[in-house]
Amino acid sequence: MYDKNNIFAKILRKEIPCDKVYEDEVSLFFNDVNPQAKIHVLGIPKFPCSTFSEFTKNANNEIITSFFKNVQLVINKLNVEKSGYRLITNSGEDGGQEVAHFHIHILAGEKIGIIK
Ligand code: AMP
Repeated sequence: MYDKNNIFAKILRKEIPCDKVYEDEVSLFFNDVNPQAKIHVLGIPKFPCSTFSEFTKNANNEIITSFFKNVQLVINKLNVEKSGYRLITNSGEDGGQEVAHFHIHILAGEKIGIIK
């Protein structure tokens, strides 16, 4: 079940600030507070969902498509398509997920080693 008090839900409600990279009606992208690479952006849908699976099962196709198109838009905005990047989504306990609102990590700006 979705916990409305998770930190990303609070960011979406503007109860706590974030270092915004891109926002539209379906998604918000912001810099990670504890970057694991020179570029470390998190992308979240505004649709309330705890995990990737909840998002793909419960959001409608328009929202899902818009969100993933926006991931590409942010990759363009960061100008890292050519140099490369890594997308990660951690899901659930075994996946090492800390914040229970589905998010995608965009890591770039240097060669990405083995990280969680
Ligand atoms: P995960 O382990 O996949 O759930 O990743 C959660 C990520 O959220 C971590 O990389 C944290 O550094 C990041 N994070 C936690 N709180 C904030 C915040 N207030 N603003 C930006 N990033 C955050």
